[in-house]
Amino acid sequence: MDDKRLRLGIDLGGTKIEIVALDARGGLLLRRRIPTPQGDYRATLAAVASLVRAAEQELGAEGSVGIGTPGSISRATGLLRGCNSVCLNGQPLRRDLEGLLGREVRITNDANCFALSEASDGAAAGADVVFGAILGTGVGAGIVVRGRVLDGPNAIAGEWGHNPLPWPKDDERPGPPCFCGKSGCIETFVSGPGLEGDFLRATGARAKSPDIVARAASGETPCVRALERYEERLARALAHVINLLDPDVIVVGGGMSNIAQLYANVPQRWSAWVFSDRVDTRLLRNAHGDSSGVRGAAWLWGAG
Ligand SMILES: [Zn+2]
Repeated sequence: MDDKRLRLGIDLGGTKIEIVALDARGGLLLRRRIPTPQGDYRATLAAVASLVRAAEQELGAEGSVGIGTPGSISRATGLLRGCNSVCLNGQPLRRDLEGLLGREVRITNDANCFALSEASDGAAAGADVVFGAILGTGVGAGIVVRGRVLDGPNAIAGEWGHNPLPWPKDDERPGPPCFCGKSGCIETFVSGPGLEGDFLRATGARAKSPDIVARAASGETPCVRALERYEERLARALAHVINLLDPDVIVVGGGMSNIAQLYANVPQRWSAWVFSDRVDTRLLRNAHGDSSGVRGAAWLWGAG
């Protein structure tokens, strides 16, 4: 392998900034984590730049820099938007970091980083078309085609969490209200709070999603039923993706990816909804866990 490039990946989150350095094969050379300066854009820029400089000094080499954030950069304006670290919104993050670091910087949202990490050297390594879905407090997703993030003119490729739950049953209409202003979004059913909301509506009782999963495993009927509804809804939501994109692999991250039975049960259920006599798409659990975002940021400087 003649690629000796050092890849630096940064996960710029609301509470922490993490950096990793990867060697050419994806081996981890360094990992550091600092708290995110709160409400201070200039201090956040300086923190990112100092992490990069310290990593390069320690490793004795200059690297490429990729950054994952919860928001996205508008192609039209170059400004960051939709970021939960609100002091970053409306700021020319890429231009400012490029000025500080003296090199081109690549930035994408954390769901794209997740998909890219798993497609590069994770659960979906070697797959042509990868749909990476994060099922956690919210629902995000990204698409990677032959090692590259699919990035459209609106920078929202893969974001199906605020599409409506497909083929809704009568009791799923109009569906729970969503923070985005609509009702019945996929996110309101297949996120962690989505499972908890369904359980509350069905039983009148509150429970956290890991508890519902654990109690289902021990055979508690209301929890078993809630998980069955969850699997059925996820199957419909992903059948929609398969019909549109026909990915080789769908890889799942976020807290709900820890539900082991999803990987056998959801593909059994999605066949009923996919417009094909057989479905060869594989549903896989992520390989890199919580590190996927920061690793994917590093892989923004991929094979090209
Ligand atoms: Zn929504």
